Amino acid sequence: MDTSFIWDDGFVTGLDVVDAQHHALVDLFNELNQALFSPAGDRQALLADIYARLLAYAEYHFREEEQLMAQSGLDARHVQAHCRLHQQFVQQIRVMWARRGTQADLGAMLVDFLTAWLGLHILGIDRSMARQIASRRQGLDAAEAFERERQRARHDDGMQTLLKMINRLYSALSVQNTQLASANQDLEERVTQRTRELELANERLRLLSRTDALLDIANRAHFNEWLEQACTLARRTQRPLGLVMIDVDCFKRYNDRYGHQQGDTCLQAVARAVAGCLRRDADLVARYGGEELVVVLPDTGMAGATALAQRMVQAVQALALPHADSPVGPCVTISAGVCSQVPHAGADGASGSAALIAHADAALYQAKHQGRNRCVAHAEGGDAAGMLSKI
Ligand code: GH3
Ligand code: MG
Ligand code: MG
Repeated sequence: MDTSFIWDDGFVTGLDVVDAQHHALVDLFNELNQALFSPAGDRQALLADIYARLLAYAEYHFREEEQLMAQSGLDARHVQAHCRLHQQFVQQIRVMWARRGTQADLGAMLVDFLTAWLGLHILGIDRSMARQIASRRQGLDAAEAFERERQRARHDDGMQTLLKMINRLYSALSVQNTQLASANQDLEERVTQRTRELELANERLRLLSRTDALLDIANRAHFNEWLEQACTLARRTQRPLGLVMIDVDCFKRYNDRYGHQQGDTCLQAVARAVAGCLRRDADLVARYGGEELVVVLPDTGMAGATALAQRMVQAVQALALPHADSPVGPCVTISAGVCSQVPHAGADGASGSAALIAHADAALYQAKHQGRNRCVAHAEGGDAAGMLSKI
Protein backbone atom coordinates (compact mmCIF):
# COMPACT_ATOMS: atom_id res chain seq x y z
CA MET A 1 0.00 0.00 0.00
CA ASP A 2 1.20 3.47 -0.86
CA THR A 3 2.33 5.68 2.00
CA SER A 4 1.80 9.23 1.01
CA PHE A 5 4.11 11.01 3.38
CA ILE A 6 7.51 9.74 4.39
CA TRP A 7 8.94 11.67 7.28
CA ASP A 8 12.34 13.14 6.69
CA ASP A 9 14.70 14.73 9.20
CA GLY A 10 14.59 17.83 7.04
CA PHE A 11 11.11 18.37 8.40
CA VAL A 12 12.29 18.76 11.98
CA THR A 13 11.86 22.35 13.18
CA GLY A 14 13.47 21.78 16.54
CA LEU A 15 10.34 22.94 18.36
CA ASP A 16 9.21 19.77 20.12
CA VAL A 17 5.51 20.59 20.39
CA VAL A 18 5.34 21.71 16.78
CA ASP A 19 7.24 18.65 15.57
CA ALA A 20 4.94 16.32 17.53
CA GLN A 21 1.90 17.99 15.99
CA HIS A 22 3.37 17.75 12.50
CA HIS A 23 3.89 14.03 13.10
CA ALA A 24 0.25 13.66 14.15
CA LEU A 25 -0.88 15.47 11.00
CA VAL A 26 1.28 13.24 8.82
CA ASP A 27 -0.24 10.18 10.51
CA LEU A 28 -3.71 11.46 9.65
CA PHE A 29 -2.69 12.05 6.02
CA ASN A 30 -1.43 8.51 5.77
CA GLU A 31 -4.62 7.22 7.38
CA LEU A 32 -6.66 9.15 4.82
CA ASN A 33 -4.51 7.80 2.02
CA GLN A 34 -5.02 4.23 3.21
CA ALA A 35 -8.77 4.74 3.51
CA LEU A 36 -8.83 5.50 -0.22
CA PHE A 37 -7.94 1.86 -0.79
CA SER A 38 -10.50 0.41 1.59
CA PRO A 39 -13.56 -1.50 0.25
CA ALA A 40 -16.13 0.70 -1.46
CA GLY A 41 -18.84 -0.07 1.12
CA ASP A 42 -17.27 1.59 4.12
CA ARG A 43 -14.93 3.95 2.30
CA GLN A 44 -17.21 7.01 2.41
CA ALA A 45 -17.89 6.80 6.13
CA LEU A 46 -14.22 6.13 6.85
CA LEU A 47 -13.04 9.05 4.71
CA ALA A 48 -15.61 11.35 6.29
CA ASP A 49 -14.44 10.40 9.76
CA ILE A 50 -10.75 10.89 8.98
CA TYR A 51 -11.45 14.12 7.13
CA ALA A 52 -13.34 15.52 10.13
CA ARG A 53 -10.51 14.60 12.49
CA LEU A 54 -7.90 15.98 10.12
CA LEU A 55 -9.67 19.31 9.71
CA ALA A 56 -10.15 19.63 13.46
CA TYR A 57 -6.53 18.73 14.15
CA ALA A 58 -5.16 21.08 11.48
CA GLU A 59 -7.18 23.94 12.95
CA TYR A 60 -5.97 23.07 16.45
CA HIS A 61 -2.35 22.85 15.31
CA PHE A 62 -2.56 26.20 13.49
CA ARG A 63 -4.01 27.85 16.57
CA GLU A 64 -1.17 26.43 18.64
CA GLU A 65 1.45 27.68 16.21
CA GLU A 66 -0.17 31.09 16.04
CA GLN A 67 -0.20 31.28 19.83
CA LEU A 68 3.46 30.27 19.94
CA MET A 69 4.34 33.02 17.47
CA ALA A 70 2.44 35.55 19.56
CA GLN A 71 4.12 34.36 22.78
CA SER A 72 7.54 34.49 21.14
CA GLY A 73 6.89 38.02 19.87
CA LEU A 74 7.69 37.38 16.21
CA ASP A 75 7.69 40.11 13.62
CA ALA A 76 4.15 40.98 12.46
CA ARG A 77 5.13 40.56 8.81
CA HIS A 78 6.00 36.93 9.39
CA VAL A 79 2.97 36.27 11.58
CA GLN A 80 0.61 37.75 9.00
CA ALA A 81 2.05 35.76 6.10
CA HIS A 82 2.07 32.60 8.19
CA CYS A 83 -1.55 32.97 9.33
CA ARG A 84 -2.69 33.66 5.77
CA LEU A 85 -1.18 30.36 4.66
CA HIS A 86 -3.00 28.54 7.46
CA GLN A 87 -6.32 30.08 6.41
CA GLN A 88 -5.76 29.18 2.78
CA PHE A 89 -5.01 25.62 3.71
CA VAL A 90 -8.21 25.20 5.72
CA GLN A 91 -10.27 26.88 3.02
CA GLN A 92 -8.70 24.75 0.32
CA ILE A 93 -9.33 21.39 1.96
CA ARG A 94 -12.90 22.41 2.73
CA VAL A 95 -13.45 23.21 -0.95
CA MET A 96 -11.84 19.99 -2.11
CA TRP A 97 -13.85 17.94 0.36
CA ALA A 98 -17.13 19.57 -0.63
CA ARG A 99 -16.42 18.75 -4.27
CA ARG A 100 -15.21 15.21 -3.73
CA GLY A 101 -18.40 13.73 -5.23
CA THR A 102 -18.14 15.80 -8.41
CA GLN A 103 -14.70 14.76 -9.52
CA ALA A 104 -13.11 11.37 -9.88
CA ASP A 105 -10.00 10.80 -7.79
CA LEU A 106 -10.58 13.88 -5.70
CA GLY A 107 -9.76 11.82 -2.61
CA ALA A 108 -6.33 11.06 -4.04
CA MET A 109 -5.95 14.68 -5.09
CA LEU A 110 -6.80 15.81 -1.60
CA VAL A 111 -4.11 13.62 -0.09
CA ASP A 112 -1.58 14.78 -2.70
CA PHE A 113 -2.42 18.36 -1.98
CA LEU A 114 -2.19 17.93 1.79
CA THR A 115 1.11 16.14 1.57
CA ALA A 116 2.76 18.59 -0.77
CA TRP A 117 1.39 21.52 1.14
CA LEU A 118 2.56 20.31 4.53
CA GLY A 119 6.00 19.43 3.20
CA LEU A 120 6.42 22.89 1.74
CA HIS A 121 4.93 24.60 4.72
CA ILE A 122 7.26 22.89 7.15
CA LEU A 123 10.36 23.27 5.04
CA GLY A 124 9.56 26.89 4.36
CA ILE A 125 7.70 29.03 6.77
CA ASP A 126 7.60 26.71 9.81
CA ARG A 127 11.35 26.30 9.85
CA SER A 128 11.72 30.03 9.35
CA MET A 129 9.39 30.53 12.31
CA ALA A 130 11.46 28.12 14.37
CA ARG A 131 14.66 29.97 13.52
CA GLN A 132 13.10 33.34 14.41
CA ILE A 133 11.94 31.93 17.73
CA ALA A 134 15.48 30.70 18.37
CA SER A 135 16.84 34.16 17.46
CA ARG A 136 14.38 35.82 19.81
CA ARG A 137 15.46 33.46 22.61
CA GLN A 138 19.02 34.51 21.91
CA GLY A 139 17.97 38.10 22.52
CA LEU A 140 17.42 39.49 19.02
CA ASP A 141 14.42 41.69 18.59
CA ALA A 142 11.60 40.68 16.27
CA ALA A 143 12.65 42.84 13.34
CA GLU A 144 16.28 41.67 13.60
CA ALA A 145 15.20 38.05 13.66
CA PHE A 146 13.00 38.68 10.62
CA GLU A 147 15.82 40.49 8.82
CA ARG A 148 18.20 37.65 9.58
CA GLU A 149 15.79 35.32 7.79
CA ARG A 150 15.82 37.57 4.76
CA GLN A 151 19.63 37.60 4.69
CA ARG A 152 19.63 33.88 5.00
CA ALA A 153 17.23 33.55 2.08
CA ARG A 154 19.64 35.59 -0.02
CA HIS A 155 22.58 33.36 0.78
CA ASP A 156 20.67 30.16 0.59
CA ASP A 157 21.54 28.58 -2.74
CA GLY A 158 18.08 29.32 -4.15
CA MET A 159 16.24 26.94 -1.81
CA GLN A 160 14.27 29.67 -0.03
CA THR A 161 13.48 31.38 -3.31
CA LEU A 162 12.27 28.11 -4.75
CA LEU A 163 10.10 27.45 -1.72
CA LYS A 164 8.64 30.93 -1.90
CA MET A 165 7.84 30.53 -5.55
CA ILE A 166 6.19 27.17 -5.07
CA ASN A 167 4.22 28.63 -2.19
CA ARG A 168 3.02 31.45 -4.38
CA LEU A 169 2.05 28.94 -7.01
CA TYR A 170 0.05 27.05 -4.42
CA SER A 171 -1.67 30.18 -3.22
CA ALA A 172 -2.66 31.10 -6.77
CA LEU A 173 -3.96 27.61 -7.37
CA SER A 174 -5.91 27.69 -4.12
CA VAL A 175 -7.61 30.95 -5.00
CA GLN A 176 -8.38 29.72 -8.49
CA ASN A 177 -9.73 26.46 -7.16
CA THR A 178 -11.98 28.24 -4.69
CA GLN A 179 -13.33 30.55 -7.37
CA LEU A 180 -13.87 27.61 -9.70
CA ALA A 181 -15.72 25.75 -6.96
CA SER A 182 -18.07 28.62 -6.26
CA ALA A 183 -18.67 29.13 -10.02
CA ASN A 184 -19.44 25.43 -10.25
CA GLN A 185 -21.75 25.68 -7.28
CA ASP A 186 -23.67 28.53 -8.98
CA LEU A 187 -23.93 26.48 -12.13
CA GLU A 188 -25.11 23.42 -10.24
CA GLU A 189 -27.76 25.50 -8.45
CA ARG A 190 -28.96 26.95 -11.74
CA VAL A 191 -29.12 23.49 -13.31
CA THR A 192 -31.04 22.13 -10.29
CA GLN A 193 -33.45 25.07 -10.46
CA ARG A 194 -34.01 24.57 -14.21
CA THR A 195 -34.54 20.84 -13.72
CA ARG A 196 -37.13 21.55 -11.05
CA GLU A 197 -38.92 24.03 -13.33
CA LEU A 198 -38.84 21.53 -16.17
CA GLU A 199 -40.26 18.80 -13.95
CA LEU A 200 -43.08 21.08 -12.83
CA ALA A 201 -43.81 22.10 -16.43
CA ASN A 202 -43.84 18.44 -17.46
CA GLU A 203 -46.17 17.59 -14.61
CA ARG A 204 -48.50 20.44 -15.65
CA LEU A 205 -48.35 19.23 -19.24
CA ARG A 206 -49.13 15.68 -18.18
CA LEU A 207 -52.12 16.88 -16.18
CA LEU A 208 -53.31 19.02 -19.08
CA SER A 209 -52.98 16.17 -21.53
CA ARG A 210 -55.20 14.04 -19.29
CA THR A 211 -57.80 16.68 -18.50
CA ASP A 212 -60.81 17.87 -20.46
CA ALA A 213 -60.35 21.60 -20.96
CA LEU A 214 -64.06 22.49 -20.68
CA LEU A 215 -65.15 20.29 -17.81
CA ASP A 216 -61.88 20.05 -15.85
CA ILE A 217 -62.28 16.32 -15.33
CA ALA A 218 -60.38 13.40 -16.92
CA ASN A 219 -60.59 13.23 -20.70
CA ARG A 220 -61.37 10.19 -22.84
CA ALA A 221 -57.71 9.18 -23.27
CA HIS A 222 -57.14 9.18 -19.54
CA PHE A 223 -60.36 7.27 -18.96
CA ASN A 224 -59.27 4.58 -21.45
CA GLU A 225 -55.94 4.15 -19.69
CA TRP A 226 -57.52 4.19 -16.21
CA LEU A 227 -60.17 1.67 -17.16
CA GLU A 228 -57.60 -0.75 -18.60
CA GLN A 229 -55.57 -0.58 -15.38
CA ALA A 230 -58.70 -0.98 -13.26
CA CYS A 231 -59.75 -4.03 -15.34
CA THR A 232 -56.35 -5.67 -14.95
CA LEU A 233 -56.40 -5.12 -11.21
CA ALA A 234 -60.00 -6.32 -10.86
CA ARG A 235 -59.23 -9.52 -12.79
CA ARG A 236 -56.16 -10.15 -10.65
CA THR A 237 -58.03 -9.59 -7.38
CA GLN A 238 -61.31 -11.05 -8.69
CA ARG A 239 -63.13 -8.01 -7.36
CA PRO A 240 -66.06 -6.37 -9.19
CA LEU A 241 -65.46 -3.22 -11.20
CA GLY A 242 -68.34 -0.75 -11.46
CA LEU A 243 -68.96 1.50 -14.43
CA VAL A 244 -71.60 4.22 -14.80
CA MET A 245 -72.40 5.86 -18.14
CA ILE A 246 -74.17 9.19 -17.81
CA ASP A 247 -75.90 11.30 -20.44
CA VAL A 248 -77.58 14.67 -20.03
CA ASP A 249 -81.23 14.48 -20.92
CA CYS A 250 -82.53 16.44 -23.86
CA PHE A 251 -79.42 18.49 -24.08
CA LYS A 252 -79.85 19.36 -27.70
CA ARG A 253 -83.03 21.21 -26.74
CA TYR A 254 -81.15 22.95 -23.94
CA ASN A 255 -78.61 24.30 -26.40
CA ASP A 256 -81.33 25.30 -28.79
CA ARG A 257 -83.16 27.18 -26.09
CA TYR A 258 -80.33 28.75 -24.10
CA GLY A 259 -77.44 28.81 -26.56
CA HIS A 260 -74.18 26.81 -26.59
CA GLN A 261 -72.36 29.03 -24.12
CA GLN A 262 -74.94 28.46 -21.45
CA GLY A 263 -74.93 24.83 -22.55
CA ASP A 264 -71.21 24.72 -21.72
CA THR A 265 -71.81 26.28 -18.30
CA CYS A 266 -74.57 23.78 -17.64
CA LEU A 267 -72.29 20.86 -18.57
CA GLN A 268 -69.63 22.17 -16.19
CA ALA A 269 -72.13 22.31 -13.33
CA VAL A 270 -73.31 18.76 -14.12
CA ALA A 271 -69.71 17.46 -14.16
CA ARG A 272 -68.99 19.11 -10.80
CA ALA A 273 -72.13 17.67 -9.27
CA VAL A 274 -71.31 14.17 -10.52
CA ALA A 275 -67.66 14.40 -9.41
CA GLY A 276 -68.80 15.66 -6.03
CA CYS A 277 -70.52 12.34 -5.36
CA LEU A 278 -67.25 10.36 -5.49
CA ARG A 279 -65.53 9.41 -2.27
CA ARG A 280 -62.59 7.12 -3.07
CA ASP A 281 -59.27 8.09 -4.66
CA ALA A 282 -59.47 5.22 -7.12
CA ASP A 283 -62.88 6.41 -8.45
CA LEU A 284 -62.67 8.41 -11.64
CA VAL A 285 -65.15 10.57 -13.50
CA ALA A 286 -64.30 11.38 -17.11
CA ARG A 287 -65.86 13.01 -20.13
CA TYR A 288 -66.71 10.17 -22.47
CA GLY A 289 -67.68 12.55 -25.27
CA GLY A 290 -70.17 15.33 -25.96
CA GLU A 291 -72.56 15.55 -22.99
CA GLU A 292 -71.75 12.05 -21.82
CA LEU A 293 -69.76 11.27 -18.70
CA VAL A 294 -68.43 7.96 -17.46
CA VAL A 295 -67.52 6.91 -13.92
CA VAL A 296 -65.10 4.10 -13.05
CA LEU A 297 -65.64 2.53 -9.62
CA PRO A 298 -63.01 -0.06 -8.68
CA ASP A 299 -63.94 -2.69 -6.12
CA THR A 300 -67.62 -1.72 -6.26
CA GLY A 301 -70.45 -4.23 -6.69
CA MET A 302 -73.74 -3.59 -8.44
CA ALA A 303 -75.56 -2.40 -5.30
CA GLY A 304 -72.86 0.13 -4.43
CA ALA A 305 -72.49 1.38 -8.01
CA THR A 306 -76.25 1.76 -8.41
CA ALA A 307 -76.61 3.64 -5.14
CA LEU A 308 -73.86 6.01 -6.25
CA ALA A 309 -75.43 6.49 -9.68
CA GLN A 310 -78.72 7.32 -7.99
CA ARG A 311 -77.00 9.91 -5.86
CA MET A 312 -75.55 11.44 -9.04
CA VAL A 313 -78.94 11.63 -10.70
CA GLN A 314 -80.29 13.31 -7.55
CA ALA A 315 -77.33 15.67 -7.28
CA VAL A 316 -77.92 16.97 -10.82
CA GLN A 317 -81.60 17.37 -10.18
CA ALA A 318 -80.78 19.25 -6.99
CA LEU A 319 -78.84 21.82 -9.05
CA ALA A 320 -82.27 22.95 -10.26
CA LEU A 321 -80.92 24.39 -13.50
CA PRO A 322 -83.99 25.52 -15.46
CA HIS A 323 -84.66 23.60 -18.67
CA ALA A 324 -87.93 24.99 -19.99
CA ASP A 325 -87.96 22.77 -23.07
CA SER A 326 -87.41 19.45 -21.34
CA PRO A 327 -90.25 16.95 -21.52
CA VAL A 328 -88.83 15.28 -18.37
CA GLY A 329 -89.36 18.16 -15.95
CA PRO A 330 -88.62 21.83 -15.35
CA CYS A 331 -84.88 21.33 -14.68
CA VAL A 332 -81.82 19.74 -16.20
CA THR A 333 -81.61 15.99 -15.53
CA ILE A 334 -79.34 13.09 -16.40
CA SER A 335 -79.81 9.39 -17.10
CA ALA A 336 -77.33 6.75 -15.95
CA GLY A 337 -76.58 3.17 -16.97
CA VAL A 338 -74.82 1.03 -14.38
CA CYS A 339 -72.80 -2.12 -14.71
CA SER A 340 -70.58 -4.02 -12.30
CA GLN A 341 -68.71 -7.25 -12.80
CA VAL A 342 -65.38 -8.96 -12.49
CA PRO A 343 -64.04 -8.29 -15.98
CA HIS A 344 -63.41 -11.41 -18.08
CA ALA A 345 -60.38 -11.48 -20.32
CA GLY A 346 -61.53 -12.07 -23.88
CA ALA A 347 -60.17 -14.87 -26.04
CA ASP A 348 -58.55 -12.16 -28.15
CA GLY A 349 -56.65 -10.91 -25.11
CA ALA A 350 -59.11 -8.05 -24.52
CA SER A 351 -59.17 -6.84 -20.95
CA GLY A 352 -62.93 -7.05 -20.45
CA SER A 353 -63.36 -3.26 -20.55
CA ALA A 354 -65.35 -3.36 -23.82
CA ALA A 355 -68.01 -5.62 -22.28
CA LEU A 356 -68.34 -3.30 -19.27
CA ILE A 357 -68.83 -0.25 -21.49
CA ALA A 358 -71.30 -2.09 -23.72
CA HIS A 359 -73.35 -3.21 -20.72
CA ALA A 360 -73.41 0.21 -19.08
CA ASP A 361 -74.31 1.74 -22.44
CA ALA A 362 -77.21 -0.70 -22.89
CA ALA A 363 -78.45 0.12 -19.39
CA LEU A 364 -78.24 3.85 -20.22
CA TYR A 365 -80.29 3.23 -23.34
CA GLN A 366 -82.89 1.57 -21.14
CA ALA A 367 -82.92 4.52 -18.75
CA LYS A 368 -83.60 6.85 -21.67
CA HIS A 369 -86.21 4.53 -23.01
CA GLN A 370 -88.00 4.35 -19.68
CA GLY A 371 -88.41 8.09 -19.41
CA ARG A 372 -84.95 9.55 -18.43
CA ASN A 373 -83.94 11.14 -15.08
CA ARG A 374 -83.15 7.74 -13.62
CA CYS A 375 -80.53 5.07 -13.41
CA VAL A 376 -80.85 1.52 -14.67
CA ALA A 377 -78.61 -1.34 -13.67
CA HIS A 378 -77.55 -3.80 -16.29
CA ALA A 379 -78.82 -7.32 -15.61
CA GLU A 380 -76.88 -10.43 -16.61
CA GLY A 381 -78.79 -12.37 -19.22
CA GLY A 382 -81.01 -9.47 -20.22
CA ASP A 383 -79.93 -6.37 -22.00
CA ALA A 384 -80.69 -4.03 -19.14
CA ALA A 385 -83.78 -5.13 -17.42
CA GLY A 386 -82.46 -5.25 -13.88
CA MET A 387 -82.93 -2.86 -11.08
CA LEU A 388 -84.75 0.22 -12.24
CA SER A 389 -84.94 3.35 -10.28
CA LYS A 390 -87.07 6.32 -10.96
CA ILE A 391 -86.23 9.35 -8.94
P1 GH3 B 1 -81.05 12.52 -24.90
O1 GH3 B 1 -81.89 12.82 -23.70
O2 GH3 B 1 -81.63 11.40 -25.71
O3 GH3 B 1 -79.64 12.33 -24.56
O4 GH3 B 1 -81.15 13.81 -25.80
P2 GH3 B 1 -80.00 14.77 -26.21
O5 GH3 B 1 -80.59 15.99 -26.84
O6 GH3 B 1 -79.17 15.06 -25.01
O7 GH3 B 1 -79.20 13.88 -27.17
P3 GH3 B 1 -78.27 14.19 -28.36
O8 GH3 B 1 -77.14 13.22 -28.30
O9 GH3 B 1 -79.10 14.18 -29.62
O10 GH3 B 1 -77.67 15.63 -28.13
C1 GH3 B 1 -76.56 15.88 -27.39
C2 GH3 B 1 -76.28 17.34 -27.54
O11 GH3 B 1 -75.23 17.71 -26.70
C3 GH3 B 1 -75.87 17.68 -28.93
C4 GH3 B 1 -74.61 18.52 -28.78
O12 GH3 B 1 -74.65 19.72 -29.50
C5 GH3 B 1 -74.57 18.79 -27.32
N1 GH3 B 1 -73.20 18.86 -26.85
C6 GH3 B 1 -72.24 17.93 -26.90
N2 GH3 B 1 -71.10 18.42 -26.38
C7 GH3 B 1 -71.37 19.68 -26.01
C8 GH3 B 1 -70.58 20.72 -25.41
O13 GH3 B 1 -69.39 20.57 -25.11
N3 GH3 B 1 -71.17 21.90 -25.16
C9 GH3 B 1 -72.46 22.13 -25.48
N4 GH3 B 1 -73.01 23.32 -25.21
N5 GH3 B 1 -73.23 21.19 -26.05
C10 GH3 B 1 -72.70 19.97 -26.30
MG1 MG C 1 -78.18 13.60 -24.04
MG1 MG D 1 -75.59 12.02 -25.93
